[in-house]
Amino acid sequence: MKDLGISALDKLIDQLAQLPGIGRKTAQRLALFILKSDTQFASDLANAIINLKQNTHLCKRCFNIAEDDLCAICSDPTRDQHKICVVEDIVDVMAIEETHTYSGLYHVLGGVISPLAGVSPDQLHIQELIRRVQEEDIDEVLLAINPSTEGETTIIYISEQLKPFNVKLTRLASGIPIGSHLEYLDMATIGRAIQSRQELKKG
Ligand SMILES: [Zn+2]
Repeated sequence: MKDLGISALDKLIDQLAQLPGIGRKTAQRLALFILKSDTQFASDLANAIINLKQNTHLCKRCFNIAEDDLCAICSDPTRDQHKICVVEDIVDVMAIEETHTYSGLYHVLGGVISPLAGVSPDQLHIQELIRRVQEEDIDEVLLAINPSTEGETTIIYISEQLKPFNVKLTRLASGIPIGSHLEYLDMATIGRAIQSRQELKKG
C-alpha cells in the first residue's frame, strides 16, 4: 500500500510502525481501521494509552508495574512473602502469573548482564534484590531468568552476591530451550519448569 500523503494518517502509521512486531503494512491497516472506527473508539484508545503512561510506574519494592507505591502482587497479603522470583522483565511476571503455579513475590531486574550490549550489574536492580534478601524474611530466591549466555552470567553473578545469606537459591528446571524467552513459551512448559525447579549448589 502506498502512503497517500495525508500527514495525519502518515503520522499515525509512523507511530504504530514503531511498535514491536508491527511492520509498515500492518501499521497502515491499523491506522485505516482507526480512521474508519467511530470517534468514541478512537478517543478511548488514545485515553487508554495516556492513562497507562500517566497512572502507572514501577513498584518501589519489586519494579513490577504498579498504580500505587506497591504493585498488586506486593500488596496482596495472600502471596507467600518468603519467596522471591527474579525475572528479567515485567513480561516475564505476566507469563509466570498466567500459569498459576507460583504464589510468592517477584523482583524485576530490568534486563540481564551483557558486556557486549554494555549492561553492567549496577544498571540492573540487583542491589535492591540483595537489600530485600537482607531486610525481608526470605527463604527462597528463584532465578527465573531466560536461558541464554547473558542469563547464565546473571544467574552466576546473583548467586555469588547472595551466597553470604541464609537463603535457598533455585533456578527453573532444565527443559527450556537455550535462547527462548518465557513470554513465548506455553503455560504448561513454564509451569513445569517452576514446579520442578532445581536448587543451585553453593560452590
Ligand atoms: Zn511489587
